[in-house]
Amino acid sequence: MLLLHCKCAFLQFIYKRNKMFNIVIFGAPGSGKGTQSDNLIKNYGLFHISTGDVLRDHIKRGTDLGKIADSFISQGQLIPDDLMVSILANVLDANEETKKGVIFDGFPRTINQAKALKTMLAERGAKVNVVVGLEVDEDELIDRLIKRGKESGRSDDNLETIKKRLIVYHNQTSPLRDYYISEKKYLRVQGTGSVEAIFANMKAEIDKLL
Ligand code: AMP
Repeated sequence: MLLLHCKCAFLQFIYKRNKMFNIVIFGAPGSGKGTQSDNLIKNYGLFHISTGDVLRDHIKRGTDLGKIADSFISQGQLIPDDLMVSILANVLDANEETKKGVIFDGFPRTINQAKALKTMLAERGAKVNVVVGLEVDEDELIDRLIKRGKESGRSDDNLETIKKRLIVYHNQTSPLRDYYISEKKYLRVQGTGSVEAIFANMKAEIDKLL
């Protein structure tokens, strides 16, 4: 009941402002982006785009894009920006529901992607409203990813690929933290502790922006 009330209040807010509310959930692999995205969806009823899930779906279906994606993902490397941006634009255009607002999970991962996202949203009369940065120590990230690998069966959740992904994160993705700090959009959230406590902190801060 309370959940329903939260969602309704939020949707009324969107309706009144007649604007998208867009959240980027940001952090290293294993920082809890997927888990906390689920909580954000339940609370705010926004459309969720996980670029990793979009790519894994292509791999599962054996599409041409899936074959290209697999060659990067299994090596722990990023899909090239141009390709990734066009994939994201297609998802935005193909789903009417994105108009109420989106949780971007796993995108952007480079400064070029962040700039492309800014342009794409501006063309739709919208912007990134907040970037929620889940901050977690490296040792804990590795522990979590190894644990997840035992259950997920993901081709990139093995120690060798995990290490590559963390290097890629530090070199190409973590500079986005400063980018979004300078854009005054970065909201730091301590990503350790219980899932519920992390979400409560995040929600309290997001609600201040509504
Ligand atoms: P994730 O499920 O978000 O951990 O993503 C899994 C993998 O998909 C990443 O390690 C990348 O190889 C690829 N990927 C997902 N999102 C992006 C993106 N925005 N840019 C480039 N590659 C991506």
